[in-house]
Amino acid sequence: MIQRREEAALLLGPNAEVSALRSGMNLVLLGAPGAGKGTQAKRLADRLGLLHLSTGDLFRAHLSQGTELGKTARRYMEAGELVPDDVTLAMVFDRLSAPEAAQGFVLDGFPRNLAQAEAFEREMAARGQRLDLAVLLAVADSVLVERLTGRRTCPQCQATYHLVFSPPAHDELCDRCGVPLVQRPDDRPETVMRRLEVYHAETAPLIAYYRRRGILREVNGEASPEAVTEALLGLVEGVAGD
Ligand code: AMP
Repeated sequence: MIQRREEAALLLGPNAEVSALRSGMNLVLLGAPGAGKGTQAKRLADRLGLLHLSTGDLFRAHLSQGTELGKTARRYMEAGELVPDDVTLAMVFDRLSAPEAAQGFVLDGFPRNLAQAEAFEREMAARGQRLDLAVLLAVADSVLVERLTGRRTCPQCQATYHLVFSPPAHDELCDRCGVPLVQRPDDRPETVMRRLEVYHAETAPLIAYYRRRGILREVNGEASPEAVTEALLGLVEGVAGD
């Protein structure tokens, strides 16, 4: 990594060093639904020039385009269950084959269980790559329920709001587009409880999995979004400097 940093500085000059030295960095954000993975993954991807890969967003795009994959995913998503691993893995591996993924990536919502994590690790090894860092955004369940059930999205520009923590200026209308905000069907209270159960049973074991591999770090996901971003950037900096 240090050698790469020096090479980057020589080639690109000091100002370009930061983004260049981080290229090739592969991260996963872990945490329950509502922990802030989506918001933080977007910010990290923008700041570090990485590909943001959200399996939830990919499934929702398939859903709105009415593809076969979207039709398969819908019934699992609406019930708060995981989409079957073979479907999910094929979609993720395909996306990671895109040229943008060569710059490094931030995974958000994947892997979601041990089978996915193991299959992902094998695939990465076959491609001569590896994960550099897994960060858990730690948030208490009571906070998650409040965050998820108040979450609203603009159906046009996908901007996200929260009715209590970051409400739109007028009624439930998007500040940018003026269209009524919508609630994700799986953010309704019944489904939220099931998603949290699935998280604890299926996804939480990944914390120990990545800890054993020595790449797990933790950030307090209840801090302000800005503080969480700074903490994440600090962790990336630490790994990039290794
Ligand atoms: P999210 O936006 O990450 O909360 O994901 C929304 C829904 O998409 C989840 O509740 C699952 O039904 C499905 N989903 C997202 N990521 C995965 C994954 N890695 N494996 C299986 N299902 C997933």
